[in-house]
Amino acid sequence: MSGSMLQRAETDALTSGLTATSGRTQGVIAPFTGDVLHELPLSTAQDVADATAAARVAQASWWAAGWAHRREVLLRAHDLLLERRELLLDAVQTETGKTRGQAFEEVFNSAAATRYNALAAHRVLRGGPRRGGIPLVLTARVDYRPKGVIGVITPWNYPLSLAIMDIAPALAAGNGVVQKADDQGALSILAARRCFTDAGVPEALWGVVAGDGEEIGNAVVDAGDYVSFTGSTATGTKVAQRAAGRLVPASMELGGKNPMIVLDDVDPEKAAADAAYGCFSAAGQLCVSMERIYVLRGVADRFIPAFAARVASLTLGPDLDYTTDVGSLATKAQLERVMAHIEDAVAKGATVLAGGRARPDIGPYFVEPTVLTDVTSTMQCFAHETFGPVVAITIVDSEAAAIAAANDSEFGLNASVLSGSRTRGLAVARRLKAGSVNVNEGYRATFGSVDAPMGGVKHSGLGRRNGPEGLLRYADATTIATATGLLQLPRTGAEFRTLTPAMLLLLRTLRTVRRR
Ligand code: NAD
Repeated sequence: MSGSMLQRAETDALTSGLTATSGRTQGVIAPFTGDVLHELPLSTAQDVADATAAARVAQASWWAAGWAHRREVLLRAHDLLLERRELLLDAVQTETGKTRGQAFEEVFNSAAATRYNALAAHRVLRGGPRRGGIPLVLTARVDYRPKGVIGVITPWNYPLSLAIMDIAPALAAGNGVVQKADDQGALSILAARRCFTDAGVPEALWGVVAGDGEEIGNAVVDAGDYVSFTGSTATGTKVAQRAAGRLVPASMELGGKNPMIVLDDVDPEKAAADAAYGCFSAAGQLCVSMERIYVLRGVADRFIPAFAARVASLTLGPDLDYTTDVGSLATKAQLERVMAHIEDAVAKGATVLAGGRARPDIGPYFVEPTVLTDVTSTMQCFAHETFGPVVAITIVDSEAAAIAAANDSEFGLNASVLSGSRTRGLAVARRLKAGSVNVNEGYRATFGSVDAPMGGVKHSGLGRRNGPEGLLRYADATTIATATGLLQLPRTGAEFRTLTPAMLLLLRTLRTVRRR
């Protein structure tokens, strides 16, 4: 393995940023080696309450400091994310097992989300006048006020991106944050948080806690004024129900079984390379990566061999540099889940076109990128999210059949269309039921466009992150309207009798001139 793992002094310095007083720790395994990377201090439910109370106090001054102050601090945080990228890349790779290239995508995406929210927050949330209900008689305006403290719960797979895409807009909108980090991503999150605190975000404004998903997760859901959850559909459903019990709004970024359609006008080699990246980024442990490919019959005999050859040529390895294409799975549980899907499919008649094996010779949790065909509905990997490096290819006879098969899922997170024609690709994209659809890319076209909303339909989620939508969820819209006194509104039956004809005339006139 080239490059160096995080040293003890660095992990201790990072974990000192946690609010964790239980005195207990959890050993976190480094996926590249199987050794204990560090002992993660664990929080208590009281720590969550204390971190929330502290964030609440800090939030009042942060909001009072104004838009310009928040913008400058967040832009400085952006610069520090870039300056400290080598540490961030080491932390992400060491904790998650992904390649340096895919860790770099996280740094890029985190910086972009920070910049976007720093610069967009005032424009989106400054509020302003709206039309009053009766011209000249009523005036109205809307103010956006921060919700208070946002509870953020994040998974292990993209610790930087998924934290920053939810936290940068929360801070930019004037909120505080209490975040529950997953054990496997806490160091990366704490390294990123340090960029923000060194840039001027008060320490207490962004609290980070760690520990048991249910105990600490529940405490975060119970404490915040809004909940941003990213994780599995099963856990997200519980979190949404718990938040609803307090009438606290929530956004849920959940699982997927993302389809890619390969149309018959593609260049097979280019499509194979694009598809391989879209399927096997982060070894398939990416909510928006592809697990189903529907290829049109007209190109299948050229695309499928090109794709299988491309996948077989990918370089696996644990190196902390840019020499590898596919990294490791993150945990033993992930290894077991992925191998169970492959073995189940093969036992029931699936054909392996590439990969299919665990690679303990490279590292304890490595699995070859795997391409299956002849996958049927009796197999676990047919409709259930594998969340690993496994894709099933199915040949279809028409564009309509491809669209129907792609939409036939309980999920609707991300989708992709590969086509030689942008117009044709866009036309198919418009018919896919997903929160995001990429044309001639697997996921990066939408994932990287931080001005546009990201989220899921059906069991893939509720609400949206990124774009104006990602900021607006963190603010309460307050309407302030004024009676100008130009005309007294009716208060008695007699006044209504007098004014009703004029009010009817007004309604008809507004309709005629099409005034909103
Ligand atoms: P998970 O649901 O097991 O855990 C996610 C987070 O929730 C972790 O921090 C965990 O400790 C915490 N948690 C566990 N139980 C909880 C509870 N009862 N209450 C509150 N919090 C609790 O998911 P995971 O295995 O860490 O992540 C993989 C899943 O996340 C996949 O399904 C993937 O598709 C999904 N995901 C979705 C997105 C997206 O943006 N839509 C992004 C990344 C991952």
